[in-house]
Amino acid sequence: MPFERRVTRKLRVGGVEVGGGSQISVQSMTTTKTADVEATLAQIYGLAGAGADIVRVTCNNVEAAEGIAEMMPRAPIPIIADIHFQHRLALAAIEAGVSGLRLNPGNIRNEQHIKDVATAAGDAGIPIRIGVNAGSLDKDLLDAHGGPVPEALVASAMQEVRYFDDVGFHDVKISVKHSNVRSMVESYRLLADTTDYPLHLGVTEAGPPPGGLIKSVAGIATLLNEGIGDTIRFSLTADPVEEATAGRSLLEYLGLRERSSLDLIACPSCGRAEVDVIAVASEANERLSALELPIQVAVMGCVVNGPGEAREADLGLAAGRGRGHLFIKGEVVRVVPEAEMVDALVLEARLLDEQGAEARLAAADVTAADIAEETRLELISLQGDANRSEEKKKAVKDVATRPDSD
Ligand code: SF4
Repeated sequence: MPFERRVTRKLRVGGVEVGGGSQISVQSMTTTKTADVEATLAQIYGLAGAGADIVRVTCNNVEAAEGIAEMMPRAPIPIIADIHFQHRLALAAIEAGVSGLRLNPGNIRNEQHIKDVATAAGDAGIPIRIGVNAGSLDKDLLDAHGGPVPEALVASAMQEVRYFDDVGFHDVKISVKHSNVRSMVESYRLLADTTDYPLHLGVTEAGPPPGGLIKSVAGIATLLNEGIGDTIRFSLTADPVEEATAGRSLLEYLGLRERSSLDLIACPSCGRAEVDVIAVASEANERLSALELPIQVAVMGCVVNGPGEAREADLGLAAGRGRGHLFIKGEVVRVVPEAEMVDALVLEARLLDEQGAEARLAAADVTAADIAEETRLELISLQGDANRSEEKKKAVKDVATRPDSD
């Protein structure tokens, strides 16, 4: 783990552990009518395939609760029922065998109703998320705090915790979502200082990509880097598969989950580029993604800096003088005509997966490294060596500041 994580209690949502040092999980929510069992299950399978560990479905009427009962035995990942306003639907979802509940303390206010749900959840052995949302905060708290400030969100969550405590229910995780990134971050920091229950992170109503993605990453990654957060959801106005993919990718990029798919890195291109890097990178991305291999591949616009700068990548491609230079861990292993370089990259990715890096380095074309070095020197002589600019600047300064000889 790259950073120390906050110590939290552990709970289980179906077969998925949350908190207590367990792997950070990815959540998403279906957009189908829950009563439409086949459509909802199809979406749940899509989400599971994209990396979601847990899925939430709305339970907004009796038909939805009945739908949950029907889909529970067929769902590939645990299902959480999202409850607003009507505590009876929470009880119905528990009866349906759901793996967890989300209650909004802003719109289920009756203390006895809340305690009845917690008691039933305790009897069923399922957890509840206290899902506070800045947009639906209890009016009394809004008035007391002068708006949906972090203190108001945390107070809402902790009031619900006290109700649960009264009936001995402690299988709890909490979210304090806000659509403003800074307020969201501050709310979770305050909550993390207040309780050791596991936290579900999210920026609410983040909107469509790319803005929604940027807001979600800004809020969620900031907290994860501080060790705060046990489960995450990107709330995007998009196909929920995008939420699951983004959540999973964020955890992988932060080193919090093992890489499960392609990580394509590519240089941003510059005046030295020998090919259209954007076009080559997007073709490589598309074709390599289809292989579903957990590897990091680099696409670099020139052989002058490419192999060196991307030496950490499992496999890479650098362009130069009408050719593609394939490299593994920074060592050039093959040089192919430019028109064939993406084909060669895809083939090498397959072979690397089958045979491993050592075998592919041993199978390298012995002339490839020499050809690459020749090309590199040729380009440097034509374009200058970008890596030597500091040296050059010093020489320029020396000349400019040299004292006159007479
Ligand atoms: S790898 Fe080459 S083309 Fe790409 S940004 Fe670096 S110097 Fe420019």
